[in-house]
Amino acid sequence: MTENPGIASVADLLAHAHAMESEAHERYLDLAEQLELHRNVEVATLFRKLAQIEQLHVRKILDRVGALELPHLSPWEYRWLDDEAPEAASIGEAHYMMTPHHALSLALRAEQRALDFYSSVLEGGGNSSVQELARELAVEEREHVELVKTWLAKYPEPGADWAEDPDPPVYQE
Ligand code: ZN
Repeated sequence: MTENPGIASVADLLAHAHAMESEAHERYLDLAEQLELHRNVEVATLFRKLAQIEQLHVRKILDRVGALELPHLSPWEYRWLDDEAPEAASIGEAHYMMTPHHALSLALRAEQRALDFYSSVLEGGGNSSVQELARELAVEEREHVELVKTWLAKYPEPGADWAEDPDPPVYQE
């Protein structure tokens, strides 16, 4: 898990950070939309807030990019530690009756994966400006992790019957 993802320059790290945070932003929006369709307003609102937080993060990264020219990354060039961008919450894990507790657990795993990615760059050694940026990005990501943990503390795990729907949706063939 802590294998060096091989980030060689600040531009390379920024390109990865930008791809990762944009994907996280889009994924949270997708999740919010899905849950709105199912009128799960409470959880949809949480995902919208998370999407906003990621958008701010994307803007901060773009500020750092400034006039730097970023390498173009094709998806197969991403050096994620997992198959998917570390920060993107998995859409397959969403359930239409998802509770805030489930939504936030999903988000916590996503934010933790992003933090692990930056930490692995940091631990990978090498170029000191890459290290410095990885440290800053890791600090910001740790703030996201802490924020999600604080929210999670307000929503204890629901009982085992949370997915029982007294009025299940009817799917059209
Ligand atoms: Zn984040």
